[in-house]
Amino acid sequence: MRILIDADDVLEDLSPKWVTFLNERYGLNARYEDHTDWNMAHVFPSLTREQVYAVELEEDFYSRLEPLDGAVETVRKLMEDGHEIYVVTTTPYQIIKAKMEKVIFRYFPFLTWKNIIITSNKHLIRGDVLIDDGVHNLLGGDYHKILMTGPYNRDFDAETAGMIRVHNWKEIYEAIQTFNS
Ligand SMILES: [Mg+2]
Repeated sequence: MRILIDADDVLEDLSPKWVTFLNERYGLNARYEDHTDWNMAHVFPSLTREQVYAVELEEDFYSRLEPLDGAVETVRKLMEDGHEIYVVTTTPYQIIKAKMEKVIFRYFPFLTWKNIIITSNKHLIRGDVLIDDGVHNLLGGDYHKILMTGPYNRDFDAETAGMIRVHNWKEIYEAIQTFNS
């Protein structure tokens, strides 16, 4: 199968580190668990939207990111199982190089630029499976849908929408096996 994998909060821990980074910078104590809608600015009511989202374009921030537990081993195993792997990300163009070098190629050295698809619209990408934490990327897409849980999608009824909700990479691997059979 051709398996499409989101980067942020699927391969790596962008959102929790984003909260920590802003807490340190501005002396706050916001909690990642309160990131209950897609808008990170709502977690930081005392900051401007610009202050919150500027982090996304800071190269040094990406040095802090790390793979989610089991991500490296499982992606490698999926490749060994014979699947085609593509990281599909809507990363802003200004920061693509930093995210690739400081996170993706650093921790997933078996991936190359040939495994990367940068897009502003994941629905236009053809694949058999998409693993993503953004409900909007899965809804309407023509692929099997695996929803990685985050506080911002916790209350979404994934099953009714034809998605498999997972909480970690072990569950992702198990979900993919159900598509094989
Ligand atoms: Mg994501």
